[in-house]
Amino acid sequence: MSLHTAEHMAFLRQSEIRNMTLECTKLAGINLAQGVCDTEVPEPVRLGAAQAMADGFNIYTRYDGLPALREAIAHKVARDSGMVVDPEKEIVVTSGTTGAFFATCSALFDPGDAVVLFEPYYGYHLDTLRALSLAPSFVPLEEPDWSFSVAKLRAAIGPKTRAIVVNTPGNPSGKVFSRAELESIAEVARELDLFVITDEIYEYFLYDGHAHVSFATLPGMRERTITIAGFSKTFSITGWRVGYFLATPELCYKIGHTHDLVYVCAPAPLQIGVAHGLTRLEPSFYEDLKREYTRKRERLCSALERAGIAPHVPSGAYYVLADSRRIPGRNAKERARGLLERAGVAAVPGSAFFEGNRGDDLLRFSYAKREAELDEACRRLDLFRP
Ligand code: GLN
Repeated sequence: MSLHTAEHMAFLRQSEIRNMTLECTKLAGINLAQGVCDTEVPEPVRLGAAQAMADGFNIYTRYDGLPALREAIAHKVARDSGMVVDPEKEIVVTSGTTGAFFATCSALFDPGDAVVLFEPYYGYHLDTLRALSLAPSFVPLEEPDWSFSVAKLRAAIGPKTRAIVVNTPGNPSGKVFSRAELESIAEVARELDLFVITDEIYEYFLYDGHAHVSFATLPGMRERTITIAGFSKTFSITGWRVGYFLATPELCYKIGHTHDLVYVCAPAPLQIGVAHGLTRLEPSFYEDLKREYTRKRERLCSALERAGIAPHVPSGAYYVLADSRRIPGRNAKERARGLLERAGVAAVPGSAFFEGNRGDDLLRFSYAKREAELDEACRRLDLFRP
């Protein structure tokens, strides 16, 4: 037999994030690799979904989601960013932000088109582009504050470039793009007539007074922006797969039908659970979330510091990139493996987020963990000496 599989998908391997999760399970380690977010699901979200299932919300929803959830999202968006969106035409509920990103890129671009990513990037963004035969180009975010040069952004754009991806707060860097930085991206997008696709899944995970600016709120940007966000992290429901995107009615229609083709809809009762969370949780929920994660960030960063794995303290999201050079090994994969074997703590090799070997000195740790597990991980790091 000589059955072939698609050549354009030959590049695709299991993500380093998942690899480390499997390795971690084998060695009974603590998984700070995958941002699993196994913290408590807020009660209205959990009970709302259970009740919805009992009440019979178990069939397909409209391709763009249940009205109750679209209305709740419109309300949330107006409250948080002042943007008035029509829940009938400008919101599509998706199978997580990953589904939204895949549908967006499938609907908007042709094979051979190019898309700009800031680097370090989230691997699923890059692999989605590759799966669709799109050409990624990269703009380096420079340490220590992950700033970028507008000249390098312009240099990354060629005649085939159609879009820029903006992930803020960013995975894995924890960078929160400032309004001024976003305005400089907006200027380039306007001048060169590009789409901007955002990933704002970590919008509530902000530290040290940083504020989230939603790109579509910048003057003139609404028509060219696809705003992608979701609830996996905010409500600790990474396995539910409920996200959404905002765009013009025309784009919602095109991207929404592409999403329908692959996913049909996000899980119906879980959409109700999320709608309950959005309408019933008080503003204090989001403040508490910030406080909880600020504490967890401090705890993990101090433990990494003590262990000689110097952390880049993030401004947002819930990952820490840390300098792994003092851990023996030739590259990030060997060092991640070494740390797991010797300390019982799993991290993702930094090379998963960079081209070439720029990430080889880094490991990514997630602190979206329950208190007890994070404490145990920190205890293990305290016992570990590279
Ligand atoms: N977003 C999470 C991370 O970066 C989970 C990714 C995944 O497993 N697809 O760890």
